[in-house]
Amino acid sequence: MTLIETRPTEAPPDEEPPLYANRVKVYPKAVSGPFRKLKWAVLIVCLAVYYLAPWLRWDRGPGHPDQALLIDMEARRAYFFWIEIWPQEVYYLTGLLILGAIGLFLVTSLLGRVWCGYSCPQTVWTDLYMWIERLIEGDRNARIRLDKAPWTASKLARKTLKHALWLVIAALTGGAWVMYFNDAPTLARDVMNLNVSGGVLFFAALFTSTTYLLAGWAREQVCTYMCPWPRFQAAMFDRETLIVTYEAWRGEPRGKHRKGEAAKSLGDCVDCGQCYQVCPTGIDIRDGQQLECIGCALCIDACNVVMRKVGLPANLIAYDTVANQQARASGGVSRWRPVRPRTMIYAALLLVVGAAMLLALALRSTLDINVLRDRNPLFVTLSDGSIRNGYTIKILNKAREERSFVLTVDGIPSGEMQLAGHESAAESAKLTVKPDTVGTFRVFLRAPRASLQTESLPITFGLKETATGETARHSSVFVGPEH
Ligand code: SF4
Ligand code: SF4
Repeated sequence: MTLIETRPTEAPPDEEPPLYANRVKVYPKAVSGPFRKLKWAVLIVCLAVYYLAPWLRWDRGPGHPDQALLIDMEARRAYFFWIEIWPQEVYYLTGLLILGAIGLFLVTSLLGRVWCGYSCPQTVWTDLYMWIERLIEGDRNARIRLDKAPWTASKLARKTLKHALWLVIAALTGGAWVMYFNDAPTLARDVMNLNVSGGVLFFAALFTSTTYLLAGWAREQVCTYMCPWPRFQAAMFDRETLIVTYEAWRGEPRGKHRKGEAAKSLGDCVDCGQCYQVCPTGIDIRDGQQLECIGCALCIDACNVVMRKVGLPANLIAYDTVANQQARASGGVSRWRPVRPRTMIYAALLLVVGAAMLLALALRSTLDINVLRDRNPLFVTLSDGSIRNGYTIKILNKAREERSFVLTVDGIPSGEMQLAGHESAAESAKLTVKPDTVGTFRVFLRAPRASLQTESLPITFGLKETATGETARHSSVFVGPEH
């Protein structure tokens, strides 16, 4: 059988590389080995979590959504099992993103690009698409032959089937995405009854098309050209970071091993090409560290198969550190040092942010008050000469039951409070807010002009729940005429 090889085109060494180069299509070969098995396991877990998570139920009581993971845009709430996030608490989301970023920094400084190689959605869906492609069109050489062959009924049927299956997966992916924003069983019923809103259709179609294009067509180009992460992840690397690396000191000079004296002058690399044939980004790891390498370690599996066959020690391509490589190349002993200043700093930051998030969640209040002061007019002078300011009070009742409060204000001597729509004024006002809602009230504060010693008086609104005594406070000002 003729072995067909395709390799990335390279500019001659004395020529400037062109600014634009046509894509050289990559035909990754199937490989088996421990890293491939690990990749399958991560892929199955990631896809299972993504497709099934919207179907998890979580009882929050009558009248409340029972979907464990839900972003309810209409009600402006995000639900994560027992946690309910209001729009005013978006800092929890910010905290989660910071936590994720620091976690990624830590993992990258320890293990290189394992996120890219194993769990990035682009990698997971591309791997799934390649598996389907291999099932229908065969392995690397068969696919190269098929692409070069003229169009026949058989080729058309294979290509059509492949793209149809890719589209089905893309549609399932887009469909699962919108279920995170809608009740999954209700949405599934609506789809059956062809009764889906335009917004849901738009986002499902958007995610269907991006999945199909990015995983089916763009593939490694997303990692190489579109994703910013490879460009700054090098800042997290140091000499002790484990990366997929070719042990050049052992492999070179490379060449076909033949029986006899000549083989003794060669390194361990038999130049079989298996490492770049299995590479999903089509690069040759023997050329050194490259931005295109996503750290998937499939070349390690491929090379170890070859090393076993030719009876040479495994791990000519290995997860290794630059420090280890240099130590071994000079006959020293290698040792991985996961604990070092960089990783300690990332771990400490992770702990601090994680602890702050947990504390914030544990102390999360079910009551909050926001005050907006009227700007136009700043104040009104009443017929009796007293000064009046208007405020909009928003009370966030995050509890599941109706609650009654007493609203007071500190800082205005001889001041009185009047609720909009009420005749009488008093020192305080009684307010009731329905469960799980924001109660909005218009309040006027009035003070005799003579009692105002300055143009702007700092004041504090206090809110106290009648039943429990839970309180919330908010600062504002009371404005009068110039003195
Ligand atoms: S060089 Fe190896 S680790 Fe890097 S992307 Fe290719 S197969 Fe994966
Ligand atoms: S798979 Fe191993 S032996 Fe074969 S070319 Fe790559 S590094 Fe050399």
